[in-house]
Amino acid sequence: MAKPLAPHATIGIIGGGQLGRMTAMAAARLGYRSHIYAPEPDSPAFQVAAAHSIADYEDEAALARFAEQVDVITFEFENISAASLALLASLRPVRPGPEVLRISQDRLLEKQFLNSASIQTAPWRAVISLDDLTRAIAELGLPAVLKTTRLGYDGKGQFLLRSPDDAAMAFAQLNPKPLILEGFVDFAAEGSVLVARSPEGLSSVFDMVENRHRDHILDLTLAPAPFAPETRQAAQTMALRIAERIDLVGLLAVEFFIDRTGRVIANEIAPRPHNSGHWTIDACPVSQFEMQVRAVADLPLPPARRHADAVMKNLIGPDDMALWPTILATDGLIPHHYGKLENRPGRKLGHVTVLFPRNALPGEFGIAAALGPLGTSPQA
Ligand code: AMP
Repeated sequence: MAKPLAPHATIGIIGGGQLGRMTAMAAARLGYRSHIYAPEPDSPAFQVAAAHSIADYEDEAALARFAEQVDVITFEFENISAASLALLASLRPVRPGPEVLRISQDRLLEKQFLNSASIQTAPWRAVISLDDLTRAIAELGLPAVLKTTRLGYDGKGQFLLRSPDDAAMAFAQLNPKPLILEGFVDFAAEGSVLVARSPEGLSSVFDMVENRHRDHILDLTLAPAPFAPETRQAAQTMALRIAERIDLVGLLAVEFFIDRTGRVIANEIAPRPHNSGHWTIDACPVSQFEMQVRAVADLPLPPARRHADAVMKNLIGPDDMALWPTILATDGLIPHHYGKLENRPGRKLGHVTVLFPRNALPGEFGIAAALGPLGTSPQA
């Protein structure tokens, strides 16, 4: 690949959802073409890309054809097999590299990696058998969270164990094995940090944000997080350390718990753009998507500055999208529609961003008011 990637070159993106769509839009702004690879024929990213391939993530012939048509390969979906990754990496630069994906695909490897980088996580135990689970419960106590090690997202593939009686049923239901048992973190809040890193090892880190979930799906992101400055700084320092230790080239999100004493505990990492970074499109000169494109194309990485404070709210199917005409008619709501054809319950269909002057993020009532038709009144 030419260094840096010249305009008109093609960036290959594995995965065709909204993250790929917004990456392709950022790539287009810098003069690049995108070629999306995804198995679903109606992938939202296809609508905004110069080319696409519809094929399974394990289809070696299709992967090879795809690789030959692009200059560099990146991801919006990280759960592709080691064999597919190795094939892609043998043909084109793959950024982030296969090792980053291997670690982030597997909660056990991820926890081992984080702890070896002196990053605190919830206490955890690997669980292969029901005996392991019984022992792990005795060691970590209850409540605890039993999770699959692979393919979990949005709270899927996990079980909150409250009593030892829950263990056998949860163990039987969660697949594939092995599992991981994590001590329950009685968190005061959840947050995340996005970091980009170039092939030369230069990094840019965005402000820490607060994430609030509804039914295990991200609902609101507040940027910056209304946490103590030391908490935000600690999370950014950890994200930078993770990026360096994992030798990241590209973009990586780190999700954190903040416990009741203000301690920052890492939950998981994702080596791709992240839902909690969508606010950066409207509130930063360089969005998370452009940062990723710049990192994989070996362009200069500017500082991750924000020119405004922001709140991002996800539009989840079907109810939130029913408000689309009202959203468009409401001053101050910046709308983003993902072009998805199916309006299924629980599906992320779009988001809105609301901007505030820098360092003037309002409190709960101010946020609810600014969200207008999407604002739910805070609990009194
Ligand atoms: P995850 O799939 O690991 O991101 O978990 C999804 C959500 O489940 C998190 O955002 C938390 O709200 C909750 N959760 C996961 N792990 C734990 C834990 N060890 N302690 C408390 N809550 C957790």
